[in-house]
Amino acid sequence: MRWGLIGASHIAATRMIDAFRAADGEVVSVLSSSAARAASYAGEHGIPHSSSDLAPFLEETGLDAVYISTTNEKHFDQAMAAIAAGKHVLCEKPLAMTVGDAVTMVRAAERAGVVFATNHHLRNAGSHIAMREAVRQGRIGQVLSVRVFHAVHLPPVLQGWRIDNPAAGGGVIPDIVVHDADTVRFHLAEDPAEVVAMAAASGLGRGVEDSCMSVWTMPSGVMVQTHESFTHAHAPTGFEIHGTEGSIIARNVMTQDPVGQITLRTASGKEALTFSDHNLYVRSVGLFVEAVRGQDRPSADGVDGVKSLAVAAAVAEAAQTGRRVAVDYGGI
Ligand code: NDP
Repeated sequence: MRWGLIGASHIAATRMIDAFRAADGEVVSVLSSSAARAASYAGEHGIPHSSSDLAPFLEETGLDAVYISTTNEKHFDQAMAAIAAGKHVLCEKPLAMTVGDAVTMVRAAERAGVVFATNHHLRNAGSHIAMREAVRQGRIGQVLSVRVFHAVHLPPVLQGWRIDNPAAGGGVIPDIVVHDADTVRFHLAEDPAEVVAMAAASGLGRGVEDSCMSVWTMPSGVMVQTHESFTHAHAPTGFEIHGTEGSIIARNVMTQDPVGQITLRTASGKEALTFSDHNLYVRSVGLFVEAVRGQDRPSADGVDGVKSLAVAAAVAEAAQTGRRVAVDYGGI
């Protein structure tokens, strides 16, 4: 698979270039808004071509697929151009700035017959796969509630557009709530119905929220509680699923690395659940490549990306208005 990178980004440099290569892919070209930056990024990462012009980038180097990891407001136009050029697209979250735009991207990819996927890494984690399996095996009985602890400290290297630029898609809601929405949907196999939320700027956010707490209702009656933040330097992340017969308590699992601890608590006592320590991003890319070959589906497809964005949009509206908001999935 010949990959082109749209965006000379930190996530591509730290996770995705290695993941494409680990999945036997070739990273052929990188696009940046600055030709000089594109060339220097290409040199640093051993990428043969670089460009600052999207049309020739898409046409000239025989790309099979593109990976979009620019700031969020650029995803829509770049994805639509790539789809129109017949490229398969792995797009970063949030797919777009609005649910309507994200639906348009998914529909365009369907019409063009290309694979369009969302890079939600957490559903690829061995920890989350093991937790979901335990729930499916009935080990905690009927699920009653989920609690998500995703308050972290944004590293200084990422304290740019995320903390001061709402027009680029900054703020903790587009950044982290989308991941929590996708992970909850992955575990419960249903879509949040209504949300209430509050958000705050608690030290880093300038013109955007850097912290958020919300409660979601699920069609089955399961209740979900989430906490996302950029300002919590010492809080462990976690994911808990509570049921009538037991509870799954996972710590340090809302992360990019294959780490964490999972404890199953039932009337019989406590049990540590083991899980695979494979690389989350390599699995995401591997399933994307299989989907291009027609042999599987992406780990998170475009519809999953629309739905995680729809939940985040509802959380943002609920926090802003103080009202309970029904999630609008844009008809998808
Ligand atoms: P970056 O800030 O590193 O990159 C975003 C854009 O900012 C780049 O495309 C680049 O523009 C510009 N940029 C980056 N560094 C510089 C620099 N030193 N000087 C000038 N411009 C620069 O963002 P992230 O990598 O953190 O995030 C990119 C996307 O990936 C977002 O959509 C984010 O939500 C998503 N993401 C997903 C993760 C996941 O695990 N799924 C994790 C982290 C991010 P240009 O290309 O024009 O040079």
